[in-house]
Amino acid sequence: MLGDDVLAETALRLYFDAWDRLRVILNDWDSRIPDAPFAKPIPDMWKEEADAYLEDCQTDLQAIIAVIQQSNELALKARLCAVSPYLLLLENPIPLSADPKPLDFFDLRTIDAQRLRQAVNTLCPKPLPPTFITRYDRLRKIRNRYTHLGQIGAPLNPVEMLVGLMDQFVELWPDRAWLSDRLRVAYHDREAGFGDKFWNPAYRVLRMWEGDMEFMPPARFRALFGIDPNVIRYLCHACRKDAATREGLYGLDAPTAFSIEDGTAIQCLACQKPTVIARERCGRPTCTSDIMGAGDHDGMCHLCGHERGSPADIGEPGDNDGFSLLPTLNQSGPRDRSLSG
Ligand SMILES: [Zn+2]
Ligand SMILES: [Zn+2]
Repeated sequence: MLGDDVLAETALRLYFDAWDRLRVILNDWDSRIPDAPFAKPIPDMWKEEADAYLEDCQTDLQAIIAVIQQSNELALKARLCAVSPYLLLLENPIPLSADPKPLDFFDLRTIDAQRLRQAVNTLCPKPLPPTFITRYDRLRKIRNRYTHLGQIGAPLNPVEMLVGLMDQFVELWPDRAWLSDRLRVAYHDREAGFGDKFWNPAYRVLRMWEGDMEFMPPARFRALFGIDPNVIRYLCHACRKDAATREGLYGLDAPTAFSIEDGTAIQCLACQKPTVIARERCGRPTCTSDIMGAGDHDGMCHLCGHERGSPADIGEPGDNDGFSLLPTLNQSGPRDRSLSG
């Protein structure tokens, strides 16, 4: 029999798959045309090219809508299944027979996507927000048009789709933690098994995080994480160490943490753990921080990542090609491997 936890996890995996695909589409443009990032209004001199790019993205974007809608539907089915798996069979007759042959649940027809939201709001303890229902119906229609006609008529915009995904997360999973779910899911995706000393799933998520934030409007960020985006300033050394590759912490200067408890600790959005800090001036002359690691992370600056006693110019934030390029498996190519020794 099907479990609600399996349905919910698949819904999340599809959700972050859609997020990643949108980020790659935007990154493909931004990394080539850094003067006209898609997250900002496109300057006039790039408008024509941006419109042409957007037009060429439509097939990909329509396919991503199908993934998003699949995620929505599975999330709603997970809610029904948590009440009873038999609710998934609502409105479809179960072929009863005196023949004692067992029925395969997976052969049975489950509730129509069109009726899912009513079923959840009638039978589950927690109703769906009206904003979710509106978007769900809109996405379902777009997905159906794409499925049946191969096109949808109106153009899709990847930035708006990312914002829609942020709303979706808040509406469907208000008690879940976005960045920590993103990390967990990354450890189970297609590339995860290739993790080695050159690359790992946490490295990829952390390297993408700062770029992710650029696409999150402040109000949406507050809704998703419960805090203002400007307070995310500090590096979580535990998360960086999990993401470290053969190159150490190089390039892992994405802040995921914010100050709590009158400045005696920081809290990380990824690992969700509060970390006690020590008050000590950072040894890097260009850094203003006096928030340093304690215990296992003694002497490591939480603002710039500098380690006590190491040269000031090593690993300075911004000295890598950074978050403008999404790190993928391709980054650890044969050239890197030949250096492994
Ligand atoms: Zn952390
Ligand atoms: Zn520092």
